[in-house]
Amino acid sequence: MAAAALLLAHPGVQAGTISKPPTTFIASPNYGNRNGTPIDSIVIHTTEVSLQGTIDIFTNPANQVSAHFVVAPNGDIYQMVDTAKRAWHATYFNSRSVGIEMVGYAHQASTWNRNNLASLVDLLSWILDANPLIPLTHPGGDAYDYPGDTYNTPGLVAHGQVQPWNRTDPGPYFPWNDVLAAVDARLNATPEPTTLLLAAIGVLGVCRLKRREHATRAPAAQRLTGR
Ligand SMILES: [Zn+2]
Repeated sequence: MAAAALLLAHPGVQAGTISKPPTTFIASPNYGNRNGTPIDSIVIHTTEVSLQGTIDIFTNPANQVSAHFVVAPNGDIYQMVDTAKRAWHATYFNSRSVGIEMVGYAHQASTWNRNNLASLVDLLSWILDANPLIPLTHPGGDAYDYPGDTYNTPGLVAHGQVQPWNRTDPGPYFPWNDVLAAVDARLNATPEPTTLLLAAIGVLGVCRLKRREHATRAPAAQRLTGR
């Protein structure tokens, strides 16, 4: 059947159809406005302290730091800032990015396990699905490679690339390739046959092109901020 064949030529879920994984919201007072800056990046961190230590730091206004999400070693996900707001985790890169803190240590391979990586993949898949300007790439280099020591490539980046002068996280053991491959598989998952059939008869609308192909770079303008 021609319609179905056409749909099969464009596998992939429709934008906004990947569910948000379960999260527990613990509000941080440390955030600001993105002031219209589009989200085109995700910064991945390790906390270098325990889960409770992280929550204590992010809920104290005196610290002036936060992240949107904290992923515990057992895979539990805590949200501390709305993604529409600007969390304070990567200085000049904050306005354009979502910050994810993985509880653990950059220089310990044991930080990474099946549970926290599975939750991270769930979280990344949802964020990328909801934010088409974020390309599913892990660009290379670091801030020293850019004018003004200001990293300026969208995608999934390490905190250490944004602030190589004082940060190394998430460190050398973080499995970038495995994580990107798992997210790619999720984003391009073939819809269930029922979904295909409904789409074919027009209930769900036209087939969308594989949405990753629409990812575009954000404006070069950066906001330099103190936090
Ligand atoms: Zn960090």
